[in-house]
Amino acid sequence: SKQIVLKNYIESGTPTLEDFEEKTVKISTEELQAEEIVVRLEIVSPDPYMRGRMTSRKSYIPPFEIGKPISGYGIGKVTKAGSSSKYAVGDYIMGQLPWQEEFIYNSNSPYVNKIDSTLAPLESFLSVLGMVGLTAYHGLKEIGEPKQGETVVVSGAAGAVGQLVVQICKIKGCKVVGIAGSDDKIKYLVEELGLDAGVNYNSPTYKLDLGKAVPNGIDVYWENVGGVVSDAVWPLLNKFARIPLCGVISQYNNTEMEVGPRIEGYLLKTSSKLQGFIVSNYISKNGEALKQLAEWYKSGQIKDRHTVDNGFSQIVPSFLALFKGTNTGKMMVKLT
Ligand code: NDP
Repeated sequence: SKQIVLKNYIESGTPTLEDFEEKTVKISTEELQAEEIVVRLEIVSPDPYMRGRMTSRKSYIPPFEIGKPISGYGIGKVTKAGSSSKYAVGDYIMGQLPWQEEFIYNSNSPYVNKIDSTLAPLESFLSVLGMVGLTAYHGLKEIGEPKQGETVVVSGAAGAVGQLVVQICKIKGCKVVGIAGSDDKIKYLVEELGLDAGVNYNSPTYKLDLGKAVPNGIDVYWENVGGVVSDAVWPLLNKFARIPLCGVISQYNNTEMEVGPRIEGYLLKTSSKLQGFIVSNYISKNGEALKQLAEWYKSGQIKDRHTVDNGFSQIVPSFLALFKGTNTGKMMVKLT
């Protein structure tokens, strides 16, 4: 069975293919211990937060172990259930799974759930009905609190979390402006998701374009990106603006801390609230969140676009592509 391991910590800079190694290991599935199951990996979700686990630094989640398979969100299919009372052959599970084609898993692990593949396409459990959807939902409900008629700006708007944030804000009756890195993505946001405007941060007129798109200022800024993209946002904040700080992907590969305009002055003079959060802070509210997300998704009020690559050897390139912006919607890799 093939697996992907991290060869060394990447303390700074952009990861490359050489930082990872594909190995082949033998697994013996003949005699399973009680509660052990055999799982075949079906779909992998490369996520930007995994970059943090590739350094040796302490964070809200421990670093990956060098030489051990990388693990992340994914969907697997149970191919042998042993004496497990929880899972049967053919069941799909979703959660933290190793980047390994086939593996033995303890069915008591709290890090996976059984998913009902008759409810929605499997892919959606790694997107709108999974961690990504929960991030958008909780961050808006708990911190952003968008109200009808307010102006919301979202960076990384055409990505996995971003595409859901913008659509929830449209449902709430907000004026929504998305920031993304290509004209194709802006087209997707405006023409397919119905945003009021989209701004390409790679355009030489980016700052001006953003100003023009928000004549009434910004009430909620959803932060996915940080750095120079957000420098254009701070001067446009309205009084009592709320800023869910979801991620700063432009900073994850930095070799040095970026120096830019200090934002405290802007926060102070507008009495704005900036709050970082991790999706797992709100775990006790996941039930209610998933119910609402499923309703919006089923009724067609939320579209859930994916960029799907194929094949086990594509997992690392697809992860690296997150930092180049090749994906629109949720990036995932299908193995079968
Ligand atoms: P995305 O699907 O948005 O993929 C990443 C996108 O980021 C790319 O497509 C690219 O889009 C953009 N990007 C990459 N590098 C840069 C850069 N240097 N400057 C500007 N944009 C860049 O990923 P997710 O939706 O999964 O994650 C979005 C953010 O949310 C990340 O920061 C992630 O860490 C964070 N996150 C936080 C969670 C939490 O619990 N707090 C949970 C999940 C995600 P473009 O073409 O527009 O540049």
